[in-house]
Amino acid sequence: MQHSGGFATTINCMDGRVQLPIIEWMQQEYGVDYVDALTEPGPIKILSENEDAATVASIKRRLDISARLHGSCAISVVAHYDCGGNPVDKDTQMVQLASAIERVKDWGYGLPIVGLWVDERWAVHPVQRD
Ligand SMILES: [Zn+2]
Repeated sequence: MQHSGGFATTINCMDGRVQLPIIEWMQQEYGVDYVDALTEPGPIKILSENEDAATVASIKRRLDISARLHGSCAISVVAHYDCGGNPVDKDTQMVQLASAIERVKDWGYGLPIVGLWVDERWAVHPVQRD
């Protein structure tokens, strides 16, 4: 694997089971050494509902550092099987994920955004690209 020394960013769940799969997928996909992890319990719920203004602002503040200071090349937004912070079925999560991606896109960083699903075997699947 050829690494650039660069950064990518993930808006991921805080669930420990999905950290390494997502970091490794992002490193392979974008050829980066480092993945800035912005973690919340069920971030797609938080971003799609847009009701918890303090947490949404916190995610944006962290994304700003990752995008502008680290020069991140891409952003992933993550949904996963058995999410304790967002205990709804996969179909509902896919709707939330699309909405969460739209919100991040609206922030205007102009970076590629990928929606990722982590399944019951902790395998990572790209389900939406923007
Ligand atoms: Zn979760």
